[in-house]
Amino acid sequence: MIKRIQSIFIRENRAEVIEDLSSPIIINAKLLVSHSVSCKCGSIAIPTGEIGETYQCIRCGKQPEGPRYNLGQIVANDSSFNPLPKPTNQLLHLDFYNDAVELLKRKKR
Ligand SMILES: [Zn+2]
Repeated sequence: MIKRIQSIFIRENRAEVIEDLSSPIIINAKLLVSHSVSCKCGSIAIPTGEIGETYQCIRCGKQPEGPRYNLGQIVANDSSFNPLPKPTNQLLHLDFYNDAVELLKRKKR
């Protein structure tokens, strides 16, 4: 009985998250998709962190190569070119990274 109640809670909670476009999970998911590269299996490989050049496929787990990315705040040597900080919807929220990956996996299924 307890198990059943918990699973209902989880479902409701996730549905709520999907509809809230200002949620950091949604922002993350969009950001990761827009910086993703395609994988040989037909799915997408997303950045594995804030800054770097490693990607991981959300379906098969392979790590194809891709361009270098920076999803965090702009680093110092870029400041003369673009002095404005990035808006929050272009920043990766690492606290919600795993949730965003889970969301993408469910969507792509
Ligand atoms: Zn793959």
